[in-house]
Amino acid sequence: MQYSDIVQRVLELAQEASEARDRAARQLIEQDLRAFLKPLKAAEIYMLATLMYLGLEGGGVAGLMDRYQQMSDTFGTPERAIDQMLAKNGLHKHLRNSLEILKTAGVEVDTLLTTHIDSPLALLNSSDDVELSLGPWCCDQCGQVITKPEHGLLQWLTRAKDGHCSGRDLRIVHVNHASPLGLPDGCGPNPSVEFARDGSGLSDVPLHWMLEPDGLVRLLAFVEESEFPANEVNRIIMRLFVPGYEKARPYFQKAIDAGIVDAQLPDDYFYQSQLGDIVANIPKLEK
Ligand SMILES: [Zn+2]
Repeated sequence: MQYSDIVQRVLELAQEASEARDRAARQLIEQDLRAFLKPLKAAEIYMLATLMYLGLEGGGVAGLMDRYQQMSDTFGTPERAIDQMLAKNGLHKHLRNSLEILKTAGVEVDTLLTTHIDSPLALLNSSDDVELSLGPWCCDQCGQVITKPEHGLLQWLTRAKDGHCSGRDLRIVHVNHASPLGLPDGCGPNPSVEFARDGSGLSDVPLHWMLEPDGLVRLLAFVEESEFPANEVNRIIMRLFVPGYEKARPYFQKAIDAGIVDAQLPDDYFYQSQLGDIVANIPKLEK
């Protein structure tokens, strides 16, 4: 479906809703509209919101992409953008106004997301030339790069609770001598403070050991014994064993918002092709 078809369909449904004979009928049409909007890409939804505000507030097309950026920053999620659009009276009128503005300026609706200069989906780099690799890792304490596995640790705190081990703060951090913080405990916590807090002891394993099959087995054992919640351990497993994951990780939400990838799996889970698309477009996402 072309983007102009999407805008047209939203406009029609919004118009039908505005002409509904009573409240119940209007709500039914709004449900249809919401169901139509939900599977769209985030970029398509933010652009609809952008067009709605262009029609509502006026202004030229020159600042359209700045306005688009504002929309994605302000709403944060496509769901909130949809709520906002449906809460506004006269959505169809605003969209119609904005289409007039675009027409007068000679801008094709179908180019907005793809070929218009600075468009969110324009000029995406291909993932074909990207080779995904493991690491380098980002230290969970200082945020700096752990340049090689020998400079890193998997670290956690654990204590006995109700007859089994209960862990917390499972993290990837710099080994003490490689920590850029220059503190006595490097990028790790103070063991005495942590013990005093809840009786937890500090454990750590070198990152290069964690990257071996035994490291994977150790992490899986955490889940098996319920020492840590599966969602925490799974994210560490992906950081250590899924090529491209750590590099793409800071850009997950931005890539979804920009329409570079769709969220097909649970939050933070991506296939290799999706990680390739994110990594290939990091320069664009950093803009
Ligand atoms: Zn660090």
